[in-house]
Amino acid sequence: MAPAKILIIEDETAVRTLILRFLTKQGFQVEAAEDGKTGMSSFEKFKPDLVILDVNLPDTTGYALCNDMQGRTGVFVLMLTSRDDEADKIEGFKQGADDYITKPFGLSELGARVGAILKRQRTVTAAEQQCLEYQGLSIDPIRREVSLNDEMVPLTALEFDLLHFLASHPGRVWRRAELIQEVWDYDYVGDQRVVDVHIGQIRKKIEIDTSQPSLIQTVRGVGYKFEAMTAEEAAAEEAAGT
Ligand code: CA
Repeated sequence: MAPAKILIIEDETAVRTLILRFLTKQGFQVEAAEDGKTGMSSFEKFKPDLVILDVNLPDTTGYALCNDMQGRTGVFVLMLTSRDDEADKIEGFKQGADDYITKPFGLSELGARVGAILKRQRTVTAAEQQCLEYQGLSIDPIRREVSLNDEMVPLTALEFDLLHFLASHPGRVWRRAELIQEVWDYDYVGDQRVVDVHIGQIRKKIEIDTSQPSLIQTVRGVGYKFEAMTAEEAAAEEAAGT
């Protein structure tokens, strides 16, 4: 398998060089840029699997870049923030970041996060490759595409993984910690509200009424479950004239 491609966008030379050297040594194919403009042009040519993105850049913010990149591809994004501020992290997740790391950080921690994110890119098994078809909602794990009533729904990589995971186990209730373990794929030590933020973003995109969500339901005091009729069940119900 070809080594994963990682793009670093960070204006602090010392930090950028450190990450570049570390990841190159780990065997990744790495490019680096020092501002948003150079970063975006490198993003288009290099087509990275993962972007390590600093929040504060001289010509733009990491949030804006993240949003822009996620609108083009299903790239993974790891945000670098120097402010240990909950609001910043939530903002990053809303713009499609998969994870964040707070400066100053150790290289081993960075390596672990990068490894965990890239693991999600693993080849899917035959059972996981099956397209999930629910009433009006179609989830294609190979193309990583979701459509609702035949209209494409733009989801970030993490939103897709979360929705696909829930929809693969309809009716089952998941605790937040379980979802983090299954979807984020590592022992996340931060705030479990990250799950709520991502569920909220998915709901905005697939639920007709976000105040009365029907597909992803909140189970009070526990977590979340996916509940929907399969396409066959919906057709049978229609045929029965109910
Ligand atoms: Ca910076």
